[in-house]
Amino acid sequence: MTLDKTSIDKNFYPIKPDSKGKFGQFGGRFVPESLVNACQELEIAFNKYWNDEDFKKEYHDLLHYYGGRPTPITYCQNLSEKLGCRLWLKREDLTHTGSHKINNVIGQALLAKRMGKTHLIAETGAGQHGVATATAAALLGLKCKVYMGATDAKRQALNVFRMKLLGSEVEVVNSGSKTLKDAVNEAMRAWVSQVDTTHYCLGSVMGPHPFPFMVREFQSIIGKEARVQFKELTNSDPDYVVACVGGGSNAAGTFAGFLDSEAKLVGVEAAGGAALSYGTLGVVHGMRSMLLQDESGQINEAHSISAGLDYPGVGPEHAYLQEIKRATYVAAEDSQVLKAFILLSKTEGIIPALESAHGLAWIVKACSSGEIKKGSLVVLTLSGRGDKDVQQVLEIIEEKGYAF
Ligand SMILES: *Cc1c(COP(=O)(O)O)cnc(C)c1O
Repeated sequence: MTLDKTSIDKNFYPIKPDSKGKFGQFGGRFVPESLVNACQELEIAFNKYWNDEDFKKEYHDLLHYYGGRPTPITYCQNLSEKLGCRLWLKREDLTHTGSHKINNVIGQALLAKRMGKTHLIAETGAGQHGVATATAAALLGLKCKVYMGATDAKRQALNVFRMKLLGSEVEVVNSGSKTLKDAVNEAMRAWVSQVDTTHYCLGSVMGPHPFPFMVREFQSIIGKEARVQFKELTNSDPDYVVACVGGGSNAAGTFAGFLDSEAKLVGVEAAGGAALSYGTLGVVHGMRSMLLQDESGQINEAHSISAGLDYPGVGPEHAYLQEIKRATYVAAEDSQVLKAFILLSKTEGIIPALESAHGLAWIVKACSSGEIKKGSLVVLTLSGRGDKDVQQVLEIIEEKGYAF
């Protein structure tokens, strides 16, 4: 497989936010006065270094020699026969740390160093972004503190230990519902008070401008590689490009490579966290986007089988892609996701992250309903590997007496 640097760097992507960081009516920068300067400083630095050949070379080299890129694209012979479509997986599960998150944290940690920052802070829900940030901090010699809700820290004690093992501090957050949204609030508050030394390494395509744009650019490596790889294999573009959506970073990065193709783009949310399917317009965490909220604007908790999709909002670019009808967003139920998790494990020998299994759950459903026509070419981004989820799946299977 030849993936030369020019083909990766080719700018496939036609959509950029405007000068205020808005994708149509979504996005923007809704932050207190004290954070405006920090966001502006970051925006200027990102625009400078993302066009700087030395920076880009260091970023791509790290992702190659440390992160394991390019990741392969794998044809699923067995599953394709079962489903009636032709299915390929873009294998983010094979990166260092086992998910697409490494693409973003390496980019932001490098940028932080270029900006002269010595500390990283990050929020984390289940712990995956926290572990990825702690990894990048260890590699690049930055001090790191990760904010994590008390409820999550208890549920994910092993990830708390992983972060500590990697040399990071974990700050347990006891405000609100003690989960991801409270961890984001706390991390933003901390950023205000130490912005001279500290970069806030946000984990998805959310938050105030420039985060949604910057994180998508760092994740666009997924879609750009996949487009080139798929063309080499089939001499065509796929009919469908599918990815799961929590905050939306692996989907935004994947779609980035295919926006100017004919492919149908499908984002799959968790039914219990489906901000695009069931949400309404509002402002949270510095951005205007679709959110799960009650009539008074209180943010509702998101609940799903996969902690990585438990975010009550979604990145503004997705709200925009939905509005202009360039992408479609659907929701998958936990029970379908569990079946898809087992199906991929048994038919292809690949245990997917529960998050990624949402994408497959929709593909299975759409193939059986005829929405995806027989013989269609489908690419699914496998955002991560499922090792982290097997204990939980075992418990659910045992509890429900689920036959598999
Ligand atoms: C964090 C995570 C997600 C959800 O985040 P996005 O920003 O929506 O990509 C999905 N899959 C895996 C494996 C994750 O770790």
